Amino acid sequence: MTKYSREKIYTCPMHPEIRLEKPGNCPKCGMALEPMAPMESKAPEIHTEYVCPMHPEIIRSEPGSCPKCGMALEARDVSVEEEENQVHP
Ligand SMILES: [Zn+2]
Ligand SMILES: [Zn+2]
Repeated sequence: MTKYSREKIYTCPMHPEIRLEKPGNCPKCGMALEPMAPMESKAPEIHTEYVCPMHPEIIRSEPGSCPKCGMALEARDVSVEEEENQVHP
């Protein structure tokens, strides 16, 4: 007796609480639902942080300008898996 419960679930990228068993549109925002893999995929999480090229100690989670020199902060992608205490040469 084999039982497979690998039905695809469709979810809205904007509303993860929306889960339907067939493709369609999100009832909240109307976006096309995307199939969600039943297994947890190990996609590396990458977030973007913003740093001043002149002042590496200035790190913000959103774009802006450096409070010290007023330069526009530059975006850089950071993998969450990386240690935060990485030493830059
Ligand atoms: Zn939605
Ligand atoms: Zn600066």
